[in-house]
Amino acid sequence: MSGEECLICAQLRDEGPVAGPHIWQDELVRVSHVRPADRPVVLGHLVVETRRHAVYLDGLTDAEAAAVGTAARDAARALRAELDVEFVHAAVVNARLEHFHQHVYVRHRGTPEEYRWHSADEWPDAPHGDAAAVAELSDRLRPYFTR
Ligand SMILES: [Zn+2]
Repeated sequence: MSGEECLICAQLRDEGPVAGPHIWQDELVRVSHVRPADRPVVLGHLVVETRRHAVYLDGLTDAEAAAVGTAARDAARALRAELDVEFVHAAVVNARLEHFHQHVYVRHRGTPEEYRWHSADEWPDAPHGDAAAVAELSDRLRPYFTR
């Protein structure tokens, strides 16, 4: 897949159908909040992704691995500071995308036990937000990114 055909590459140029606001970026990685499409999303679910095509964790350069790690840590600090959470999880579950991406997401305080680490987003009473709420949260999270 060429850079011209890739939706994520277009997004990284702020173009194309999945373009949207991001929280922070440098020359190696970008951090975004998952975007509301047709309905609100659970607040506090970020994605750290490489700007370069590198599908899997073992394909990252040393610099990318360091950048992903630092961005994920900063994301966790930001989420814990700005939201009422029990945990901040980080998960790499890449499949079918050209860009490595790591999910960094919260378990909101009060999430019932039946919602496990991988399904905390499914709790219907978790705080949800529309595009405006995601943009407002993103503005609050941005100062925690230190590089
Ligand atoms: Zn791409």
